[in-house]
Amino acid sequence: MSRSTKVLWPQRDVIAGHPALDFLNTVDDPGRSRRHNRLRDWPALMAWFEASGVLSRAWRELFETGESADRHARILHDILTLQQLFYEHVQAHVNGTPQVRLGDALNARLSQALGRAHLGQSGECMESGEYMESGKCMESGKCMEWRVASMSPSRWEDAIALEIEAFLRTHALDQVRQCDGCSWFFIDHGHGRRWCRPHVCGKRHLRKRKRASSTRLKP
Ligand SMILES: [Zn+2]
Repeated sequence: MSRSTKVLWPQRDVIAGHPALDFLNTVDDPGRSRRHNRLRDWPALMAWFEASGVLSRAWRELFETGESADRHARILHDILTLQQLFYEHVQAHVNGTPQVRLGDALNARLSQALGRAHLGQSGECMESGEYMESGKCMESGKCMEWRVASMSPSRWEDAIALEIEAFLRTHALDQVRQCDGCSWFFIDHGHGRRWCRPHVCGKRHLRKRKRASSTRLKP
C-alpha cells in the first residue's frame, strides 16, 4: 500500500467486515450528516480501491490510463450516486423499516453490472489483458465469482456494484449494525459492538460522558 493510501484510508478505518459496507463508510460524520465524504476526487477513489482490496493497484494502474478529467468526474459522480442508493437501502433496514425491497434504481445498476460481468475463477489471470483483483476468495482458484469486464468504460462503478451484489446475496442485513456515534456500518458478530472504531467514536463518547459528569459535580 502506498503512503498516500495509508494516510487517506488507514487500515484501522477498514472495519466493516465487507468491502460493500466499507464503501458506505467513507464519510467523516460524528453528527451523521454524511456531508464530508473522503471520496472527493479521482486519486481518493483510486486509493480507496486499493485500501479496500476491491481492486489491486496493478489492476487499476493498468486500466486507469488515458481517461480525461471530465470522465473521472462523471465516474466519481456515478459512484457517489450508487453509494447513496445503497446507503438508503441499508439505513432503512437498520432503522427497522419492515420489508424493505431493493429500490428500482439500485436494482437496475446492479443488474447492468452483472450483465457486463463474466464468471471466472478467483485469484487468476484469465485472458490476455484481463487481470483479476486479488484477495477475494480464501480458496483462490477453486471457486467462481463475477468478474468485472475490465475493458468496459463502466469498470470502476461495476467493481463496486459487484461487491454490493455479492454482499446482498450472501449476507442478511439483520447482521448489519450502525455505530452509536456516526453513520458507519459493520457486520455484528453478536459481541454487542457499539462503535465503528473505538479510537474515534468510542473515545468521543467517553469524553462526552466525562464532561457531563464533571458538570454535574460542579456546585
Ligand atoms: Zn462511528
